Amino acid sequence: MQRSEPSFNSQLATLPVYVPGRPIEEVAREHGLDPATVIKVASNENPLGPSPQAMVAMQRMLGSVHLYPDGSAFHLKERLATRFGLVPGNILLGNGSNEVLEMIGHAFLGPGTEVVVSQHCFAVYPIVTALFGAKLVTVPAWPDFGADIEGMLAAITPATRVLFLANPNNPTGNLVSREDISRLLAGVPSHVLLVLDEAYVEFLDDPVDCLPLLRSEVMPNLMLVRTFSKVYGLAGLRLGYGMAVPRVISGLEKTRQPFNINSVAQAGALAALEDSAHLEKTRQNNRDGLAFFHTAFHGMDLSYVKSYANFVLVRVGDGAGVFAYLQKHGVIARPMGSYGLGEWLRISVGSPAENKRCLELLKQALAAVK
Ligand SMILES: *Cc1c(COP(=O)(O)O)cnc(C)c1O
Repeated sequence: MQRSEPSFNSQLATLPVYVPGRPIEEVAREHGLDPATVIKVASNENPLGPSPQAMVAMQRMLGSVHLYPDGSAFHLKERLATRFGLVPGNILLGNGSNEVLEMIGHAFLGPGTEVVVSQHCFAVYPIVTALFGAKLVTVPAWPDFGADIEGMLAAITPATRVLFLANPNNPTGNLVSREDISRLLAGVPSHVLLVLDEAYVEFLDDPVDCLPLLRSEVMPNLMLVRTFSKVYGLAGLRLGYGMAVPRVISGLEKTRQPFNINSVAQAGALAALEDSAHLEKTRQNNRDGLAFFHTAFHGMDLSYVKSYANFVLVRVGDGAGVFAYLQKHGVIARPMGSYGLGEWLRISVGSPAENKRCLELLKQALAAVK
């Protein structure tokens, strides 16, 4: 008997694919390189590694991994709430902030609904939108890659349910101005959930603080999303969180899997939050690294976007060619073809030695790849 495969939900046919940064092991195998010599500046990870205190706490937790984790992550929620002047009911934890974004899809999106984003937005927003059969409305960015906030507000219709905006943005690294954030907060209608993705906020010296709006509950349609993957150096653990008024959080909690945050991650995150020395070292390394790349690119007459995050977007011409050259020589950067920026490369800030090696190799690549 000839059978056909079961039929998939129709939206999967056109679902965009997330293209991750390539793992060190895989690249080393492919090019016959020693993995110890390969550096990865492709996924905006922390070049200083995890907090040493977090590592101790995680090791201690290993003896208990036969037990299910605390599904409500009591201590971690308490700690985050205290830190931000909120209550635990303001906090939603996700297996990476990507899972928080997906829970937003579960709770708010479906066929007939719309999502507003800016051109050059984080790749996960279009994926979540398509996954739930919603329609993506992409507003052209300004020539400097900045989001057109007035344009995004104008793109809102009665069918709009979510507006996603990352600040600083990935992959461009640019910052939405204080005035534009105010305009957005004032202009977004109450039927639209405004999701401000603050994955890189800890790298800012003077971030716009939206937490008072959650404390006072004057913005029941605001959600702030943050992560332990970037400044905290815990990307492999998969832990992120959203913050909103308790009624929004409890609605989203219905879509959460019971044990989505594992016990090692809970222990690691709790310890990482206390390690302010590691945090400060990371921020300083990043300031130095950004200055290094900005100055170098300026001197080389390369176009780049001034970055407020932990990576720099730079125009190299043949992005795929330069990426391949770097990779063959043991430096994994991130090509931007999947973001429609084929002439550009995104380079994460590494350690000073990694930055130097990456820049030297980039110079070679630019001479070799025409
Ligand atoms: C890296 C990043 C995240 C974090 O994703 P996790 O799932 O928490 O690792 C979220 N949003 C943006 C814009 C990012 O660049």
